[in-house]
This record gives sequence, structure tokens and C-alpha cells, in this order.
Amino acid sequence: MTDIRKTLGLRPVINCSGTMTSLGASIVVPHAVETVTAILSQWTEISDLQRIASRTIERLTGAEAGCVTASCSAAVTLACAAAMTGKDLAAIERLPDTTGLKDEIVIQTGHMVSYGAPVEQGIRLSGAKVVPVGQATSAHAYQLAGAITDKTAAAVYVISHHVVDYGQIALETFCEVAHEKGVPVIVDAASEYDLEKFLKTGADLVLYSGHKFLGGPTSGIIAGEKNFVAACYLQNRGVGRGMKVGKEGVAGVIAALEAWETRDHAGIRAREQRALDLWQSTLEGRDGITAIIDPDPTDNPLDRLKVLVDPEGANISAWDLADRMAQGERPVIVRDHEVEHNYFYLDPCNLHPDEEFVVAERLTEELDAARKSNTPIVSDLRLRVLAQEKAILNWPD
Ligand SMILES: *Cc1c(COP(=O)(O)O)cnc(C)c1O
Repeated sequence: MTDIRKTLGLRPVINCSGTMTSLGASIVVPHAVETVTAILSQWTEISDLQRIASRTIERLTGAEAGCVTASCSAAVTLACAAAMTGKDLAAIERLPDTTGLKDEIVIQTGHMVSYGAPVEQGIRLSGAKVVPVGQATSAHAYQLAGAITDKTAAAVYVISHHVVDYGQIALETFCEVAHEKGVPVIVDAASEYDLEKFLKTGADLVLYSGHKFLGGPTSGIIAGEKNFVAACYLQNRGVGRGMKVGKEGVAGVIAALEAWETRDHAGIRAREQRALDLWQSTLEGRDGITAIIDPDPTDNPLDRLKVLVDPEGANISAWDLADRMAQGERPVIVRDHEVEHNYFYLDPCNLHPDEEFVVAERLTEELDAARKSNTPIVSDLRLRVLAQEKAILNWPD
């Protein structure tokens, strides 16, 4: 099969960084690809298609109902809008004007992160006001209780490797406090494998990305209490219109969920393990390199290889190695969001067959080249960060 990227003039990147929107989110599973292709040319009654999606979401999550959205980010906005309007169609059309509605949404300060855009902006887009709870690394039940007023429409909780990973309120406690005050809890679980856990823990709505681990087309999923989900769906008559999902997105998610039910999870895990083992043995004994297998921080059944780079021994910094891996004929994009700490990760869950060997070869290639360099390859990290910031503004050039 020819690589469409070549036809389009795109670089043939290998993704070792995770399910990144900037890299096209995921390798869409074959069943979803076929379903999307088949539905694109057919008239489709969307509310029926979303009804079928609801049944599928119910089956996999244990929720009373579900619907498909354009993205998890859209789901955050729709869920917050729904918390304010319920099924009041006039109020739905009035948003983002929230006059007369409860319009405050509480969220822990340590959860106000960016996944490429700010979580709290997704809340504000609905017209709601964000009320932060606690401090970045310290939030308590009493602070949540104190932040809830008679204007509070919902409480948002984010599950992610992005959030502060200590000093936060446990989800169970968060739900208890919110529910005691009659406030529903919305959980952003965009990147999580577990489709049942958060509803079981007490969430009223749980939001997922359809295009991360599920391997669907770009989309989002809302699952939860029936009236709340219905109020989310009704936002398509209001602020949701500009973030609508097409038939291909809805049908694609249904197919991705069906594929998820029958996926050989153990087989995939074993394949990922073989990639990790290969990379670890490739790096073993290299001066200045330490490679350790690191479990996923939010307990997804997934490990990554953490590659620590000591420039003294390796003759290159972690960020220069990451940048060089991303160049050339066979670019490999590594997970480098914490590279200032002198390490990056190799994520094995988005590889095509045999790409792990290319990754191993590229590591060897770049580390050998660095060793041969007469001067240490250690660029100024501060300038790298500023250059990245500047590069954002270069598009479309
Ligand atoms: C990826 C992500 C999102 C956004 O998901 P999209 O479906 O890409 O919009 C929201 N929240 C968290 C925690 C994420 O990781």
C-alpha cells in the first residue's frame, strides 16, 4: 500500500509520543475506517444514529445514556452548558448568555491544565464562570464545599497525566461533597482506558476522546445520567452547533467501541512490551543513558520507556537527542514534554508493525553521531523553548 503522506507531501513520521492531536490523534482501527467509508455517501438520520451510539455507549460504560461529540474538548463545553440549561430549549438558545441560570463551575486549581488548549476555556465557552478550588498543589474537601454556592451548576474533575499528581481531592470525596450540595460531577477522562470506573465512583457524566486509545476518528464521547446526556445532546441546537460531529464521527465511534469490546488487549500489551524490551536492550550499556520501564501515571494498562540522558556521558542533551530523532528521512517523534528534567519517553502504543525496529535504529544512529561529535551537543534549553513558541506563529509559512 502506498503511503498517502507521500502523495500529500507530508513527512513519514513515526509516533513514539502518544495519542497526540498534533500528529493525527490515533491509528484508526480497521472496523472504524470501513464504517466511516461506508457511511460517508449515505443519507443518515442523525438522531437515530446517535440513539444507536447511546446504546453502544451504555453497553460499554454501564451508563444510562451516551452521545457522540466532535471531541472531548467539545464534550467539556456541552456538558457545562447542559449543567446550566438542562432541557430548557430557550435557555439553550440564549447561551452563552447565562442570565437567570446557575452558572458557576467549580474545578480544582491543580486540574486547570492544558491538553493543547486550556481545560477551563472549554468550560468558559459555554458561558459558565470558572471557580477554582484550592491551590495548585493543595486542595481539600472543605475548600470544595466552601466554593459551592447556590449559583453552582456543576463540578468538573480531570483525570490526566497533565494534572498535579499530589495534593488533590480524591474523585470519590469530590463526588460526595458535590452531591451533598446537589451539584453534579463531570469527569474529563479523555485519555483513560477504563470506561466504567469513574461512573462507578460517582460521576454523573464522564467524557472521553473517541480518537485516543479507542482508535476512532476525531470525536468525543459523553456517558452518564440520562437527562444530563439528553441536555448535552440538545446543545446541538445552540452553542454545540459550531462543534457538531458528522455522521462519520458518530458511526466511527460506534465501530471503534465495538472493536474495543473484541480487541486482543493482552496481545497488544505483549506487542508493546516487545518494543519496550527492544529499545531497552538497544540502549543498554550506552554511556550516559539510563532506560527504565515506567508505568502510566493514571494507571492505564500501558508502560513507556523513560530514557534519561546525562550529557556528560552521552555527549548530547535529552532535548537535542529528541530534536535530532525528529529530523531526517525517518523522523521519530518522542514524548518530550518533561525534557527539561533530562529525560524523554518512548511510547509504544501508536506504532505500525516493525516501526519499533526503525526507532531502535534511529536511537543508535543519533547516539553514535553524538559520540563522534568533537563538541558536546547541548543547546540552550531556554532558547529552545522560546524558538518553539515562535514557531507556533510561523504557520502557514
Ligand atoms: C486530550 C484531552 C482532552 C481533549 O480531547 P479532544 O478529544 O482532543 O478534544 C481533554 N482533556 C484531557 C485531559 C485530554 O487529555
